[in-house]
Amino acid sequence: MRISVLGSTGSIGTQTLDVARVRGDRVTALAAGSNLDLLEAQVREFRPDVVSVHPARVAEARARLTGVRVTGDVEEIAVQDADVVVGAIPGLAGLAPARAALEAGRALALATKEAMVVASTLVWDAAARGGGRIVPIDSEHTSLYQLLIGEDLADVEELIVTASGGPFRTGPADLSGVTAAEALRHPTWAMGRRITIDSSTLFNKGLEVLEASALYGLPLSRVKVLVHPQSVVHGLVRMRGGNVKAHFSAPDMRLPIVYALGAAPHGMTRPGDVRAAPRLDWPGSDFSLARPLEFFEPDFGRFPCLGLAYRAGERGGVAPAALNAADEIAVEAFLEGRIGYLDIARINEAVLEETPDAPLGWDDLREADTWARARAAELAGAPRAAGVTS
Ligand code: NDP
Repeated sequence: MRISVLGSTGSIGTQTLDVARVRGDRVTALAAGSNLDLLEAQVREFRPDVVSVHPARVAEARARLTGVRVTGDVEEIAVQDADVVVGAIPGLAGLAPARAALEAGRALALATKEAMVVASTLVWDAAARGGGRIVPIDSEHTSLYQLLIGEDLADVEELIVTASGGPFRTGPADLSGVTAAEALRHPTWAMGRRITIDSSTLFNKGLEVLEASALYGLPLSRVKVLVHPQSVVHGLVRMRGGNVKAHFSAPDMRLPIVYALGAAPHGMTRPGDVRAAPRLDWPGSDFSLARPLEFFEPDFGRFPCLGLAYRAGERGGVAPAALNAADEIAVEAFLEGRIGYLDIARINEAVLEETPDAPLGWDDLREADTWARARAAELAGAPRAAGVTS
């Protein structure tokens, strides 16, 4: 199989290359940002035809990388002829190449969760225009994908994504004194810093609820969260007849990646259009099921960011984009010690409240993102003056 990897030097990108190495896939194109040392090693090993780097690093990359064409245009990588394009560039930066891949009719194994959270209708439009297909990589969404194969969505009562509950699931009621080091101590997954903080506030779970609703076409009122500290069951589907199906796997992102690589060429062309992966060859992962499993309702009072995500999703338009942008700035400010832990939710709520209702278009999206970042930065810089205190 020929694969292109957008975000090849990141966590999902390097794990995709781990999978490609084992499966013997041909890696034809790579997109990175600024990590030229790692990209150089990847070029040496996988011999792609073309790579992209941050425009400011093109000259340096051309001098360092031999036997490969170097461009500063990530969308050029997204539209390269390939059986599967893996989309793993975070944030709005990952949106344009994802759109380009779908408009070019590519099969997209999608990790960039912001694409479905902030721009799902635009992303589905791009797929419909170009004939592109999508299969998710996020662990909860691959679980739901696999559980929905062969099901009629009309028979599905609700989708359930699980959350580990993060480091503050239990413990003192007052979280105002939580430090960055404490919040970065995730009990199950090793991930980047923003997503780890977002897991501790359950904001990340809120994004995943929006992503699930957008991928499978069910309203938010039918997408639920269950806290499951063991992180062994990642998704559940409750059928109208009363049966509940669950998906179990080890918490290892290479499993969703290998599934997505197999399924993407047959994947979704519209919400809920789920097709099976024909062939999955992967050595498997050591994984014991012999352990007690617990499930709890989430505590919306202790974790207000979860409810904010539902509120943004129910408002629709640019509200999820504004909330996501605000959170990125608030988390950064928390990590830099400029605001307290509880200010993350307060800033998110303030920005969401102030976000004007606007329909979703590519320009509106960028505008809302820019405005929300500036407003959140203002609130984070002057917490007391703006009425945000820890
Ligand atoms: P990382 O931060 O580890 O990696 C990001 C990658 O994108 C790097 O290769 C980086 O390049 C590249 N990149 C960043 N900005 C740009 C840009 N403007 N143009 C081109 N390339 C860029 O992210 P993750 O791999 O953790 O996450 C990727 C996406 O997948 C995110 O949306 C995340 O939410 C989602 N996700 C991640 C999971 C995980 O376990 N990590 C699980 C589920 C979803 P460089 O480093 O060279 O600058």
